[in-house]
Amino acid sequence: MSPKYVYFFGAGSAEGNMKMKDILGGKGANLAEMAGLGLPVPPGFTVSTAVCDLFYKNKKRIPEGVKAEIEKNLKKLEKTVGQALGDAKNPLLVSIRSGARASMPGMMDTILNLGLNEKTVAALIAKTGNPRFAYDCYRRFIQMYGDVVLGLKPVKKEDMDPFEEIIERKKHERGIKSDVDLTAEDLMDLTIRFKAAIKEKTGHDFPEDPMKQLWGAVGAVFSSWMNDRAIAYRKMYDIPESWGTAVNVQLMVFGNMGTDSGTGVAFTRDAATGENVFYGEYLMNAQGEDVVAGTRTPLQIVEMKKDDPSSYAQLEKIRRILEKHYTDMMDIEFTIQQGKLYMLQCRVGKRTAFAAIKIAVDMVGEKLISEKEALSRIEPDQLNQLLRPIFDPAEKAATVKAGRLIAKGLNAGPGAASGRLVFNSVDAEAWAARGEKVILTRIETSPEDIKGMNAAEGILTARGGMTSHAALVARQMGRVCVAGCGDLLIDYAKAEMAVKSRTLREGDWISIDGTTGEVLEGRVRTKPSEVLQVLIEKTLAPKDAPVYQTFAKIMSWADKFRTLKIRTNADQPDQSANALAFGAEGIGLCRTEHMFFGEGKIGPMREMILADTLEARKAALAKLLPLQRHDFAGIFKEMNGRPVTIRTIDPPLHEFLPHDEKDQRALAEQMGLTYEKVKARVDSLHEFNPMLGFRGCRLGIIYPEITAMQARAIFEAAAETKKKKIPVEPEVMIPLVGNVKELADQEKLVRQTAADVMKEQGVKFPYLVGTMIEIPRGAITADEIAAVAEFFSFGTNDLTQTTLGVSRDDAARFLVPYVDREIYAKDPFEVIDRDGVGKLMKIAVEKGRSARPGIKLGICGEHGGEPSSVEFCHLIGLNYVSCSPFRVPIARLAAARAAILNAPAAKKAASAKKKAAKKTTKKR
Ligand code: PEP
Ligand code: MG
Repeated sequence: MSPKYVYFFGAGSAEGNMKMKDILGGKGANLAEMAGLGLPVPPGFTVSTAVCDLFYKNKKRIPEGVKAEIEKNLKKLEKTVGQALGDAKNPLLVSIRSGARASMPGMMDTILNLGLNEKTVAALIAKTGNPRFAYDCYRRFIQMYGDVVLGLKPVKKEDMDPFEEIIERKKHERGIKSDVDLTAEDLMDLTIRFKAAIKEKTGHDFPEDPMKQLWGAVGAVFSSWMNDRAIAYRKMYDIPESWGTAVNVQLMVFGNMGTDSGTGVAFTRDAATGENVFYGEYLMNAQGEDVVAGTRTPLQIVEMKKDDPSSYAQLEKIRRILEKHYTDMMDIEFTIQQGKLYMLQCRVGKRTAFAAIKIAVDMVGEKLISEKEALSRIEPDQLNQLLRPIFDPAEKAATVKAGRLIAKGLNAGPGAASGRLVFNSVDAEAWAARGEKVILTRIETSPEDIKGMNAAEGILTARGGMTSHAALVARQMGRVCVAGCGDLLIDYAKAEMAVKSRTLREGDWISIDGTTGEVLEGRVRTKPSEVLQVLIEKTLAPKDAPVYQTFAKIMSWADKFRTLKIRTNADQPDQSANALAFGAEGIGLCRTEHMFFGEGKIGPMREMILADTLEARKAALAKLLPLQRHDFAGIFKEMNGRPVTIRTIDPPLHEFLPHDEKDQRALAEQMGLTYEKVKARVDSLHEFNPMLGFRGCRLGIIYPEITAMQARAIFEAAAETKKKKIPVEPEVMIPLVGNVKELADQEKLVRQTAADVMKEQGVKFPYLVGTMIEIPRGAITADEIAAVAEFFSFGTNDLTQTTLGVSRDDAARFLVPYVDREIYAKDPFEVIDRDGVGKLMKIAVEKGRSARPGIKLGICGEHGGEPSSVEFCHLIGLNYVSCSPFRVPIARLAAARAAILNAPAAKKAASAKKKAAKKTTKKR
């Protein structure tokens, strides 16, 4: 049997369903699902995504076999609706729309009113008795077809569409301002002029044959899969090119047939706040594009209760049916044609982080979904939005009082943003690239603006509603957005805007509040989010912070399901306290060298480095000892018995010394040395390749007194803490080990120091000695290393650097183009390179566990707070991830999702870990 490429839907049944997104695309699968549910969907058929691939392989032509299948389904559609394509009495008109597996709003092309020609337009007039409507449809069709299929659409956005130019000329001739004042005769004249323009520009006549129109349109929609916008969008959202788009051919329904017709878009809940209210917009007597394009500001959906109570009631019912069926918040599009409601689209609605969390939590409460399901619906990075700043309330209040609240728009993307005004996307990107914060301000945005929107702190538009392009895309990107701010009169040519009586120019500071829709002149300081105020600043009580409460619920569910422990990278007591507030369960990396830059420490540190003799070095180290001990004691106290991994000194020593003459002279004077001596020592420490030079455990091996001092500081602090009856569990970590002998050397020293301190202080405390796995030889010989190490922590920053042979400090110049060219799918310093670095990690895990079954395994490279890397760590069976304090909530959620989404593997790994733990006998 030959494969099926075309799937019919409508009249209460469908060949597809919502699970067939891969084949039918999102739009097609959901149209089929709604048709199957008996909802009023205009009938049609979907040409599958597989045809997209065939189309490109067949020199951008639809294969003959597929054509035959389309023709068969067209006949079926004609029969179902009792109309025929090109029929002089009862013509069928169809829409041709794209629909990929993942939603790509506005990126690909659409053709409406297909089937119109000189013959059928007459039939449409006869049928509707409305020549103006018929000619409006016809001129829109010719325009769309001309732009999309025949390629008349200008490449550059600044260039005017040739058809728009003709319309403008016509309006000028007729002395009218608005399109709605064009009469039927005017519109008819436009169709003639449009066709003439097409003939002039392409050398061909506009195709009158509807079948020819159909083939052209289907081909053009497939072709739009490879347009620049679609390619850029796919790159931004990781959508593989191989997925392809489907094409939906569907009976046209009209929202512009008079005042009993209309069209709208809605969310089954508020997509900005997550509130359980029907939220949307509509326009009577309008086509769908009028609502989303932002050319007319639509009405709130509740107003429809008055305008068309029966359709509103029907929509409310459909809203409930869809939420129950999909168990999610849905985004719908509908059209009312002469009082009859049609559903044109439904898909899972995009939402802000606020909304995602609230909806997930509410739906658990409403018993629509489980806790696990709720967690799997929140992307860990979305939590960033909750952790973003809000305006300083006092400063904002003062700004408002000073009369600088200049306008109000729609609260399309929550959060607070302050930046300089720019009026186009190219400037937004350029200004942001040189470090400026910008607010991209446009009359309305379009898909061409996505890069600029991405670069901006916030987006402000003069036109459009909550479902306009600006609003949808800003929410998806997590940008602050105020949309539809009608008081702004933007003049792109002058790069300025008038707001009531004021004029603001490019570069002026402006602040927007995406939670309230307010636009403020000037710069307003921002303040941490509600979650931060409760957890970090402690200025807000949890009971007064509803957003925090919802956040806390999600976090508690996450903790129930995750198997990975979450630690933090912290070097100071206050950082440790922040991390604890965010839910950290220990410290996975305390970089002791960071402490040397603290108060009073850099002096003795420099003395130690500049010392000529062992005695001089020891004298300097003796000054550092109490300072380090004090820092460690502070951290132990804060962590109250939780594990704390402290790493011995790691960076090359020259990093601690001044490098210009002025600073070197100052240091020489301070230390009573000659400038020449200081300079000579700094020069002698110079390395051509310091990252591979005298650093890591090599320092402690050549200068054992440094490790001895650090170990003593750690253990004396532990003894002091223990004496205060605070539990303590230090883990001493040796960096950059590639050979077990390096570790054995340092381990011996550390254990000797521990024994000495316990004896001197008369207390005992548990401790571990372990290592970082951050160079390939360490990973490959992990079994040998595990014979000594009680734990491994993967230092994936260095492991990435050394595995890829890519300097972590010099990579930006070529890594960005590398990622653009898909040499690496993502920056490997951000997301673990599973195939390379990840393989080494796997080897190290297996070898480490084979030599020491109960070995504790973690990660402390920057990847430890990045969701996909956290998932990888879960999959290879690490015990914990460690990340910066502010990423702890993200890691908690990522770990829970990894456990939920990889459940069978999670179960196996958990039981393996348990078994391994039982067998363990601690080696000391
Ligand atoms: C690492 O290399 O991943 C690591 C955590 O150490 P550092 O970044 O301090 O080199
Ligand atoms: Mg490192």
